[in-house]
Amino acid sequence: MRLSRMFFFPLRETPAEAEIPSHQLLLRAGYIRRISSGLYAYLPFMWRVLQKVSAIVREEMNATGAQECLLTQLQPSDLWRESGRWETYTKAEGIMFSLVDRGDRELGLGPTHEEVITAIARDTLRSYRQLPVHLYQIQTKFRDEIRPRFGLMRGREFIMKDGYSFHADEESLKETYRDMDRAYRNMLRRCGLQFRAVEADSGAIGGSGSQEFMVLADAGEDEVLFTEDGKYAANIEKAVSLPPDAVASPFSSYEKRETPGTDTIAKLCEFLNCSPTQIVKNVLYQALFDNGKTVLVLVSIRGDRDVNEVKLQNELTKRAANYGASAILALFVPEAEAQAKWVAKPLPLGYMSPGLSDEFIASKSDVAPQFLRLCDRTAAELENFVTGADETNSHVVGANWDKEFPKPDVVELQTAMEGDRAVHDPTQTLQIARGIEVGHIFQLGTKYSLAMGATYTNEAGEDVPLVMGCYGVGVSRLAQSAVEQSYDKDGIIWPVAIAPYHAIVVIPNVNQSEQVEAAEKLYRDLNDAGIETLLDDREERAGVKFKDADLIGIPYRIVTGRSLKQGKVEVVERSTKNSQEVEIDAVVEMLREAIDKAIADRV
Ligand code: ATP
Ligand code: MG
Repeated sequence: MRLSRMFFFPLRETPAEAEIPSHQLLLRAGYIRRISSGLYAYLPFMWRVLQKVSAIVREEMNATGAQECLLTQLQPSDLWRESGRWETYTKAEGIMFSLVDRGDRELGLGPTHEEVITAIARDTLRSYRQLPVHLYQIQTKFRDEIRPRFGLMRGREFIMKDGYSFHADEESLKETYRDMDRAYRNMLRRCGLQFRAVEADSGAIGGSGSQEFMVLADAGEDEVLFTEDGKYAANIEKAVSLPPDAVASPFSSYEKRETPGTDTIAKLCEFLNCSPTQIVKNVLYQALFDNGKTVLVLVSIRGDRDVNEVKLQNELTKRAANYGASAILALFVPEAEAQAKWVAKPLPLGYMSPGLSDEFIASKSDVAPQFLRLCDRTAAELENFVTGADETNSHVVGANWDKEFPKPDVVELQTAMEGDRAVHDPTQTLQIARGIEVGHIFQLGTKYSLAMGATYTNEAGEDVPLVMGCYGVGVSRLAQSAVEQSYDKDGIIWPVAIAPYHAIVVIPNVNQSEQVEAAEKLYRDLNDAGIETLLDDREERAGVKFKDADLIGIPYRIVTGRSLKQGKVEVVERSTKNSQEVEIDAVVEMLREAIDKAIADRV
């Protein structure tokens, strides 16, 4: 392609809306253009990158025996009602765009495709002999994200590869899951990314596990905890740890103390001259279930630890049936306005105990009359602890479970932290890194097949639900995360395997015919040799052309300049800026080798 003809409009200024380097660079180098919040057009350079990423994804998927298909983006609400997700997805979470057609039928724009694929499986998969089956597609997904940001990282319209597998049993699911783990590692390695596979939260679905693939970058929205020995890595939402030991309590007898102005752990520690590890902190949450019921949750946790709201949400979902509900719509620490819905009298905030009286809850039909009391392991282990006295400006010290306070349900609710000891080996400490989630593989089990009646006949002739797995890669997010991992002050440095072009031949001065002739010939020869090459034949100054080539991030730049007289051209490697004079006739072979090596290195 000739740059003079290329649809290429670099920006000279960094757009103010772009906060992270990869977003700024893709806009500046003319790869993408913002249409509206979370909506970006992929211009020709970007589209080439996306197609290269897609091709790698496709190759790795096909190698596992998965088959490509293309499902509908418009999805009837009926299917989502069958799975029970219509209300949550369109209303509670509000992540699904929905519409009503001219026949008054409700439709959603696909944020994901479990329902559609399960409906197909239900109609087609009848016997164990047809299993396992794995279908995938590469397609635009729609999600009405609360906070679209960072360009392609969190768009409202983005490209995803999503695959769904159907099995006769867990064993077969696990086999495909392992294949996917390998395929995903291959994809990311081949795309030139540094990544980590981490244990992930499987949410309320449970199942036997899920794993996320995190591209390591400071701009990542996720936090990953891992150990040096490489044996443990988990998303902070899921991570478990051994917190530091609690300091022995100096309070040997139970008594109430006046503790004025100590509504935070820090102030209380200073006032009582104690360690936060001797305090049982009580955090009040308000949960709204899908049947409209509000439940007040009192979480007791050690003073130095924080509640992990993902773990809490999972515990509450497990208990949803106790409240006649099946899912949680919202979970939050209630501010005054939310409290007003249910408080019978002012709460002793900052001074609450695990035994806070249920009389604080006004009697209302849509509010559970009692606190749901949960206790994290860290608090459950404490003796002679300090906690609130349920009275403003007072605490109790020297308290014990099953003496002054009945011990609530003990569950794992704490947020693991950097520096904690690892569970698998306490001599290892957890380290933290930021990551961009580019892929997620998931053992779904029978959630959708049960809900939607997708069954098959097993060898014993019984009708049983299909066992499912699902596997997603954010193709457009992945492409941008490659930039986030690889750039410098001059622009993008694409990994060779996914660069829009491999090489760019720059004519410093288009008025010099020998420069033009040499460049035209190289341009032809390189393309003929299968090296995807651009020709910068624009009537621009050489400096501008070099700057643009660096900004776009093409791995190799060939300049037909001064050394032409010696029958040579300059070849510059984008990633190292190394420059060498190369015999014109040797350029094709040299680049062929370099490119093959750069790409092959990653297979
Ligand atoms: P996140 O936690 O980042 O919102 P998710 O858990 O909702 O992601 P999945 O439903 O597992 O994501 O989707 C599979 C993949 O699709 C993700 O791993 C991610 O790479 C990509 N993805 C998800 N949401 C977006 C988005 N809004 N924009 C771009 N890519 C996305
Ligand atoms: Mg996820």
